[in-house]
Amino acid sequence: MSLTAPAAGARKPRTQITLSVVRALRLSPHLVRVVLGGAGFDEFVSNDKTDKYVKMLFTDVDGHQVTRTYTVREVNEVDKTISIDFVVHGDEGLAGPWAAAAKPGDMAIVSGPGGGYAPDPTADWHLFAGDESALPAIASALDALPSTARGVAFIETYTEADAIELRAPEGVEVRWLLRRDAHAGKTTLLADAVADHDWAEGRVQVFAHGERGAMKQLRDVFKERGVTRTQLSLSGYWAFGRTEDRFQAEKREPVGVIEPISD
Ligand SMILES: Cc1cc2nc3c(=O)[nH]c(=O)nc-3n(C[C@H](O)[C@H](O)[C@H](O)COP(=O)(O)OP(=O)(O)OC[C@H]3O[C@@H](n4cnc5c(N)ncnc54)[C@H](O)[C@@H]3O)c2cc1C
Repeated sequence: MSLTAPAAGARKPRTQITLSVVRALRLSPHLVRVVLGGAGFDEFVSNDKTDKYVKMLFTDVDGHQVTRTYTVREVNEVDKTISIDFVVHGDEGLAGPWAAAAKPGDMAIVSGPGGGYAPDPTADWHLFAGDESALPAIASALDALPSTARGVAFIETYTEADAIELRAPEGVEVRWLLRRDAHAGKTTLLADAVADHDWAEGRVQVFAHGERGAMKQLRDVFKERGVTRTQLSLSGYWAFGRTEDRFQAEKREPVGVIEPISD
């Protein structure tokens, strides 16, 4: 369960960049920011997507190299660092526990970034919905919105202590949905809140990401509301009871498919 250099002959993701932990800071009980830098930063070619993400390389308990996907919350060209906000979700998994224990000097190997979404300045309003795994991407999108933007962001998390401060334009309301003792990935909080919301007039742009089951519920709400495919960025970021390896593999099985919405 460690983060290691690629084994000789292992299948390499596109471009691997070796970085090291500069510092790690707790943003909330369930969120740790890890700031990565080092000589490898110069190989990191950023893009203009607010949901830009990297694949991080880990070695699992069986010695297999696996990847975990993380949003790049911030690229700091002056300090030559990238920041990633990790959900710490207990002892299970590779990336969460790695981030919880991260200390200066630890190595991190990433590839990317990919990405697919940026706020559309011509949208009449914006709707964001996600759990804390999508919080970094939602926070980056809120940062990038023009000051005149209007909309609402629904973010599901554990308790008030996890509701971190976000910069958002005055016309964009941030609503925290607290699951408290319920298990992450086992609530209907996001779909209920979006369905009950008083939708504004005009063309909405939607960014919805998080636990797969919750995203399936949201997909049905968006369909009912007449949101079209081009207005929608929606995907599962993880799935309850699945490692990321299984979650990614299941995208080729019926359980892993979030039925697309037509135009
Ligand atoms: C494009 C993209 C961007 C993402 N960005 C981020 C990000 O910025 N920050 C972030 O924290 N995550 C992000 N994720 C989600 C992250 O990749 C998964 O949560 C991943 O499974 C974590 O790996 P792990 O090794 O900690 O746990 P795994 O080994 O994959 O899973 C172990 C167990 O933990 C559970 N688990 C996994 N994630 C969570 C969670 N968030 N809450 C509760 N239980 C969980 C699994 O269901 C499984 O039972 C992103 C995913 C995608 C696809």
